Amino acid sequence: MEIIRSVEWMKDAARTAESKERLIGFVPTMGALHEGHLSLVRAAKQQCSPVVVSIFVNPAQFGPGEDLAGYPRNLEHDCHLLEALGVDYVFAPDTAEIYPAGFRTSVRVDGLSEKFEGRIRPGHFQGVCTVVLKLLEIVRPRFAYFGRKDAQQAHIVRQMVSDLNLDAEIVVCPIVREADGLAMSSRNAYLDGEQRRAATALYRSLDAARRKIEAGARGAGEILDEVHTVLDSEPLAKLDYAATVAADSFEITHFLTGSCLLLIAARVGSTRLIDNMFIEERDGSFSAVL
Ligand code: AMP
Repeated sequence: MEIIRSVEWMKDAARTAESKERLIGFVPTMGALHEGHLSLVRAAKQQCSPVVVSIFVNPAQFGPGEDLAGYPRNLEHDCHLLEALGVDYVFAPDTAEIYPAGFRTSVRVDGLSEKFEGRIRPGHFQGVCTVVLKLLEIVRPRFAYFGRKDAQQAHIVRQMVSDLNLDAEIVVCPIVREADGLAMSSRNAYLDGEQRRAATALYRSLDAARRKIEAGARGAGEILDEVHTVLDSEPLAKLDYAATVAADSFEITHFLTGSCLLLIAARVGSTRLIDNMFIEERDGSFSAVL
C-alpha cells in the first residue's frame, strides 16, 4: 500500500491506472476509521482495482465553533486497517495541499444544501462538494463509495456529479451500526458513558417508527410521533429535526409513497449525531431498513 501526500503524485498514480484501463474505486473519508468506513472499502475492493482511500479532515466543511481542531486523527492506525484490507493507495494530503494560499473556488448545490443538515450547519455542504469535486478530479475513480449514514451528503454529491457530468458513479452503502443499534461515527468517541447510552435513543426512535410503519401507518405525522416519543423520554438527547422525505428529491413527504427516508438529527451533550432509515414500497406494502 502506498501512502501519497501530494496531489501531483496522486494524479500520476491515477493516470497510470487509467492508462492500463484499470477500474479505480474511491472511498473519501476524514479518517478515524471504523467499521462503517471499512464496509465502503470492502465494497470498493469487490468491484475495483486499484482502491484509493482518502483521509483528509476538510476544514471547509466545519463551521466556526464546530469540532475541527478536536476531530479525532490517527493516520498510522488508519493505514494499518486499510493495509489489512488490501487498499492500494491512501491519499492523505495536508490542508495546504488541497487549499493552497489563494484558493478561491467553491461548489454549491442550490436548494439541497440549505435544508436539514445544511440549515443547522450553514456552508457545510458547500465545503463537502468543493472537496469531493477536487478529490474526484484528482483520483478520477470509476466508482466512488459513500455511506447512507450521511444520506443528504450522498444525495447532494450525486446531484453534483450529474449536474457537472462527472465520470464517477456514486455507490451508496448501508449504515453499519454498533451492537446496540447506534450508527457508527467517528464522533461517537466524544460521548461519555451516560451519553453513549443515551445516544441509542436515535436508533430506538427509528426502530419505533419502523414498527409503526410495518403495522400499517402511512402518515408522516403518526410515524414521526413515534420518533418524538422516544427522544422526548431521553433527557440527555435533544432532537434537532425529524422528517420524512422522498429519497429521490429530499422533499418533505406527508404520506409514504415510493422510496422515502426518515431523517433524524439530535444533540447528545455537545455532540451532534445523525441517523436515518430507508423506507421502501413493494407491492403496496412498506418495509423499513435501518
Ligand atoms: P467521514 O469520515 O465521517 O467523512 O465518512 C466517510 C464516509 O464513510 C462517508 O461516506 C460516510 O457516510 C461513511 N460512513 C460513516 N459512518 C458510516 C456508517 N456507520 N456506516 C456506513 N457508512 C458510514
